[in-house]
Formats: sequence, C-alpha cells, structure tokens
Amino acid sequence: MASLNQADVIIIGGGIVGTSIAWGLARRGTRVCVLDEGDEAFRAARGNFGLIWVQGKGAQSPSYATWTRRAALAWPDFATALQTETGIDLQHEQRGGFSLCLTETELNAACVTMQGIAESLDGAYEYELLEAEATRLALPAAGPAVRGSVYCPRDGQVSPQRLLRALFTALAARGATVQSGAAVLTIRATGEGFRVETAKGRYIAERIVLAAGLGNRWLAPLVGLEAPVAPQRGQVLITERVAPFLSHPTMQVRQTGDGTVQIGDTKEWVGFDDGITHGGIGNMAARAVACFPALASVKVVRTWGALRVMTPDGLPLYESSAEHPKAFLVTCHSGITLAANHAGPIADWILGGAGPAEIATFRSSDSSVGLPVAPPWLDSFPLDGGRRGWG
Ligand SMILES: Cc1cc2nc3c(=O)[nH]c(=O)nc-3n(C[C@H](O)[C@H](O)[C@H](O)COP(=O)(O)OP(=O)(O)OC[C@H]3O[C@@H](n4cnc5c(N)ncnc54)[C@H](O)[C@@H]3O)c2cc1C
Repeated sequence: MASLNQADVIIIGGGIVGTSIAWGLARRGTRVCVLDEGDEAFRAARGNFGLIWVQGKGAQSPSYATWTRRAALAWPDFATALQTETGIDLQHEQRGGFSLCLTETELNAACVTMQGIAESLDGAYEYELLEAEATRLALPAAGPAVRGSVYCPRDGQVSPQRLLRALFTALAARGATVQSGAAVLTIRATGEGFRVETAKGRYIAERIVLAAGLGNRWLAPLVGLEAPVAPQRGQVLITERVAPFLSHPTMQVRQTGDGTVQIGDTKEWVGFDDGITHGGIGNMAARAVACFPALASVKVVRTWGALRVMTPDGLPLYESSAEHPKAFLVTCHSGITLAANHAGPIADWILGGAGPAEIATFRSSDSSVGLPVAPPWLDSFPLDGGRRGWG
C-alpha cells in the first residue's frame, strides 16, 4: 500500500527551477515536497553552461529584459545566503561578461540589439560596446580575429553543479522532502488541494507547482494549464584544467572555478536527441580558438548535449490555473540566471502574494507574440502524451 505524504506545496521537478522555488518557499517556513523523476528524465539543469546572463535578453520583450536584470541584481544576495546556509562555494562571480564579435556584421547586430533593449528600458540598462583594441585590453587572451565585443557589468557565472548541490543541501537542512525516482503519473484536484500519484507513493498538498521542464508539457493540462515547451539542444565541451587566462565569462567560452574551460553551446532543433555531433563540437571549438588562440593546444576532456526547455517565443511562463488557482506553472530557458527571482518574488507569488509586474505577460496564451524561436513542428507535438509518446 503506497504511503500518503502531506506538504503545504508540492513542486514537481527537481531541476534548477523547482529547487530554487522550493528553497525560497522553505526559507519562508513552508513545508515543501519536491518530486523528481530522476536520471531517466531530460534534465537541462545538469547540462547547462552556468552563465548569469543579462545582455541580449529581452530584445522583443522589455518585461523579459527587466525581469532578467532584476534577477542579476538579486543574485549576489541569493548566492551569499545559499553559501552561508550550506558552506558550499558556488564559484559565483558577477564582474561582468563579454560577447565577442568576429565580424563587423556580428558587431553591428549586437549594437542594434543592445541599443534597442536600452531604449525600451528608458536607459536603465548597463552595457558598453568595445572596439577590438578595448576588448583586448580587457581580455588580453583575445586573438586578432576579435573585432569587438559587448560588455555588460551585470553578467556573471556560477558552477551549475555546485548550485544544484547547494540547493538540495539547503532543502534537506530545512527538512523539505525531496523524492527522486518519483515520476508524477497523475494529479487530481481535491476539495483542499491536490493529490499526486507517483511511482514512489502518493502526496497531497494545498498548492502545487509544475516545474518539470519539458515534462510540463504533458503535466500542465492535468490542472487546466498549457505549457507549449519544446526541446532545443545545446552541445557543450570542456577542456583540461589550465592556468587562469580569462578573467570574465564570455557568451561562448568561460573558465570555470576549477580551471577547466567550458565552450558552448549550440542551438539546435533536433527533437529529443541529446547527443553530440562532430559538426557541432567542431564549430564551437573553431570559434573558441578564433576568440582565444591559446586554446588551440588545450585538450578537450568531455562533451555532452542537453535539451533546453523552449517556448515558442523564448519567454518564460508563469501562470496559475484559472480552473485550479493554487496550481502554478513555471518554466524558462534561463533557469540559472532567473534562480534568484524564483527563490524570491516567485516564491511569494506561489504563497498568494501579488505576482511581480514583469511576469504578467508571460502566459501560454501570449507565447506566440514576438519573434518565434521554436520550430514550426512544435504545434504538432501532442500536449498530453508526455515525452514517452513524442519520441
Ligand atoms: C546546453 C545548455 C546551456 C544552458 N546554459 C544556461 C546558462 O548559461 N544560463 C542559464 O541561465 N540557463 C542556461 N540553460 C538553461 C537552464 O539549464 C534551464 O533553464 C534550466 O535547467 C531549466 O530548469 P528546469 O528545472 O525547468 O528543467 P530541468 O533542469 O530539465 O528539470 C526538470 C526536472 O523535472 C523532472 N521531471 C520531468 N517530468 C517529471 C514528472 N512527470 N514527474 C516528476 N519529475 C519530472 C526531471 O526529472 C527534471 O529533473 C542552459 C541549458 C542548456 C541545455
């Protein structure tokens, strides 16, 4: 006979989104239960690049630009609190980040994008455009092929693995239930809340948060919501450790706190294939060497592919269900960057507070607004079959 476990809030999904929200709730004294499918699932939180990245985000949506900037501003306090609570060094630093441009076309496009975002935010957006010489002064390892760069002082990086470990550690210390191997099979609304069936037992709670990444697509209709998310593959490679040579992260190359160099990341619509390709890896390596020629002699030790959780317009989704107002959906493709918001204002919203102003338009019904980034075949994905039925 399966056991019945009670909490105030059940979070489905133990990725970076679910655990950030869970920690925020636990810090507010809420009894939280995180249910995670485990290693069988696609888990972007285990394969990402670790950037806290503001620049370029929100070119089509001032709300998203503001929401991202707000997260970046909240990150230092978020990191300090988590590190203090767990003793785990997140390798967090936010001294700014660079996007390197190798052609005039790239530089002009970056200029137009950044100007557009800054204007849409009435100038409340910090960035600099640097010519080649200024870029090499800031990043002496940059090679002659670099034509210029965009610098944003809010950008930074963190170890995504340490971040996730710290969140799990903090949740355990606060007495939260975290159940792995607990793929959610059904959700039923009861008079008092929700009853959730998993392979590991039944759980009940007054509130429920769907933070299951790609799994949200089929979970959402169970509580009257829609999550039109699709997988976008990113390939990443990592090198042996080398002496410090890069003081700031760039969008495609960053040196980790352990000395390895992480190079990323492709953006490919290949369904649920999270493998790697010679073409993908080769192109990224070639660009990395063009940016930083010293990398030509550094050995790659590991490569992987992981699937981003993408909406049609690339914007996050924050919604409560009209049918079941205590059921919430949260999904985004920048879960590291937005972690501080998820542990802060989003946790307050889930507990019944007013939603932050920025998230009002991040709804599935608005998600085709702006330039679509998802492939045309997204519409043919069934909403209720789960990934087992899609692939
Ligand atoms: C290559 C790559 C690079 C990236 N780089 C960055 C970056 O530099 N900065 C940044 O901010 N973001 C980055 N991202 C995005 C970031 O990783 C994601 O936004 C984030 O991981 C999404 O977190 P999530 O918790 O929603 O989803 P996931 O990490 O996918 O987690 C979802 C969880 O839900 C669970 N689940 C699914 N279905 C069920 C079910 N039915 N029952 C129970 N549990 C279920 C799974 O087990 C999984 O653990 C990158 C992503 C990729 C792929």
